[in-house]
Amino acid sequence: MFPCKVGSAWEVFAPAKLNLYLDVMGCRPDGFHELETLMVPVRIYDSLRWIQKPSPGLTLRIQNLLPPGSFANEGFATNEMAPRESVLVDADAKADNLVLRAGQLLAQSAGIQPCGTFELVKRIPIQAGMGGGSSDAAATLRLANAAWGIGYSTRQLVSLAAELGSDVPFFLQSSSAICRGRGELIESVTGLPHLHFVILKPAIGLSTAEVFSRFKGERRFGAKQETLPKLITLLRRGDIAQASSLMHNALESVAAEMTPWIERLRKSFANCGCYTQLMTGSGSAFLGVMRSAAQAKSAAHLLASRGLGTVLTTSSL
Ligand code: C5P
Repeated sequence: MFPCKVGSAWEVFAPAKLNLYLDVMGCRPDGFHELETLMVPVRIYDSLRWIQKPSPGLTLRIQNLLPPGSFANEGFATNEMAPRESVLVDADAKADNLVLRAGQLLAQSAGIQPCGTFELVKRIPIQAGMGGGSSDAAATLRLANAAWGIGYSTRQLVSLAAELGSDVPFFLQSSSAICRGRGELIESVTGLPHLHFVILKPAIGLSTAEVFSRFKGERRFGAKQETLPKLITLLRRGDIAQASSLMHNALESVAAEMTPWIERLRKSFANCGCYTQLMTGSGSAFLGVMRSAAQAKSAAHLLASRGLGTVLTTSSL
């Protein structure tokens, strides 16, 4: 995630992530859950731009570029590139937006007045478990750090990122990683092969807080201790078939109790030629692990013909 200067503006791309493994190890005293998860950044991007404006204060403009129910390639819709919505969000009116919160937090920490307009173009499906909001927050920290001339190190940004959300620190480094703690403790994983995916996001989304709170109620902690190191070893060897058999998401069964869509999505991947399919993060999107970009594309056509939601193809960064 590297901001670049274009004239007097600054721009950065914010990638999505997929969880290839997610286990919940227990409930923490702070109310969060202890996780062990393998997260992989993928080539579906929101983009964020910062431009100067004459008036003081922060503004946010959001464009939604992902049409529902379509087939998109590498995150860019093939059949409709025109923005569906462009919304100007006032910083005070929408203070819970993660871009504005990240900007305000950074400015406060550096002791400066936040300024300018952020223009956010959304291509990552929301409430999908693909980390869109968290990636946008990390992108804001990187972008504003450069645009406002603050010059914080990555380590300083990481501690602010953890205040914004459990997944935000992961996106500051944008390489595959095992994330532990509540998700904010990052161990970078190198040597993974280039992986191809098909993604299906139904119209309904799932709230992370609700999925975890349901999990807490059920108290079913899985802790399959040795699985993740084995999975990573198999991936490094290029044995994607065996590795796929170890991919698992402990939140999937909870999500399946919250909405019939999860079972529908599981079934819809039948005969698509995936090594495996599983929910990503706290849902509601499902990913299929594919042999190649060509196979991902043909699976996407098949899934799109079943009319269950937005279908995307992508690959790991
Ligand atoms: O950290 P983030 O804001 O993304 O988390 C959203 C919600 O998900 C939290 O308020 C918490 O209820 C739940 N959560 C959790 N354990 C985690 C991460 C999130 O219980 N490790």
